[in-house]
Amino acid sequence: MIPFIDIKRINDVYAQATTEAVNQVIASGRYLHGSQTSAFEHELAVSCGARQAVGVSNGLDAIRLIFRGYVEMGRLKPGDKVVVPANTYIASILPITELGLTPVLVEPDNSTLNLDWKAALESVKKHDAKALMTVHLYGAPCWDNTIARWLKEHGILIVEDNAQAIGASIMQDGRRIFTGHLGDAAAFSFYPTKNIGALGDAGAVTTDDENLINIVRALANYGSDRRYHNIYRGWNCRMDETQAAALRIRLADIDNITFQRRQRAAAYNALLKNGNILLPLWQPGSVWHQYVVRVKNNLRDAFREYMKANGVATDIHYATPPHCQPCYENLLPASMPITESLAAEYVSLPIASLSLSEVAKVANIANEFAR
Ligand SMILES: *Cc1c(COP(=O)(O)O)cnc(C)c1O
Repeated sequence: MIPFIDIKRINDVYAQATTEAVNQVIASGRYLHGSQTSAFEHELAVSCGARQAVGVSNGLDAIRLIFRGYVEMGRLKPGDKVVVPANTYIASILPITELGLTPVLVEPDNSTLNLDWKAALESVKKHDAKALMTVHLYGAPCWDNTIARWLKEHGILIVEDNAQAIGASIMQDGRRIFTGHLGDAAAFSFYPTKNIGALGDAGAVTTDDENLINIVRALANYGSDRRYHNIYRGWNCRMDETQAAALRIRLADIDNITFQRRQRAAAYNALLKNGNILLPLWQPGSVWHQYVVRVKNNLRDAFREYMKANGVATDIHYATPPHCQPCYENLLPASMPITESLAAEYVSLPIASLSLSEVAKVANIANEFAR
């Protein structure tokens, strides 16, 4: 059986270095607010080009902290509209509704599967939105230089959900810019299955905005700017020293991790040949967090059954879009037809922990489907 993802196999490469690093943390007696977290924050900021980074508890909290930070700064207030992609994981939207902001869903582009920026711009204008969230879904950078510039000129915030795309990049005026340094602020997740995974939960916020980062840092620590002095009604969203120590080892290997994913995605794109299977668009800056094909002709579930019967586990990202979840009944639009029709076709093929020969094996099996 080829599993969808084998996290132990991924982590075996780093096991010895991780054990040593975690043992050092244990021996140090310092488990929070220590040198591992500050070193990781510095290294993460450098890796994406941002001026500042704060290590936090998880990706959801990173998004919450950014939006709450903008509320505390007076840049956003309850009721303000935030344009968000309909085709995303629910964690992109939960913090927006939690803070009393109003999400305005926008359909994806049919080829990138990511936010349709032209539709997003129309939506910003129509609803007088104060912020836009771009989600670099499946590891593909979701960005439009021209529209982003217009938004910036009009004081509309751009928040990146970079949970799936650490290391992804786009070209801007001949320069490479990394996700996490495109918008006004970005949220990272280091959930164990992400491209850089912790040994549990972890996340981060990056930005160039000194003021925002200080507020985020305070909010993540009960809202205190100094010991026993609380300027905000904050939360506890800190990163553990053990997680920071483990993450530093993986972050140092990011180029290799990204190279391997690109190599496997390229192999799939070259080898898969089946009239029922639509391949993902090749986007050069993508880090291929997921390799998502679309199975046409209502054959998606049959395809997954067939793959399973032939020893290949697959997954769906995401079978039920946020607006179709019971918790969002009556709050989000009842119907987003493009998002829903895509959700009925998605199949994620295993990519994270596969060797190149396993990719070839999976492609050969998929090619024989419904022949
Ligand atoms: C994983 C993920 C999150 C949430 O990150 P956690 O660390 O699991 O809280 C948010 N948005 C997207 C797009 C994700 O894939």
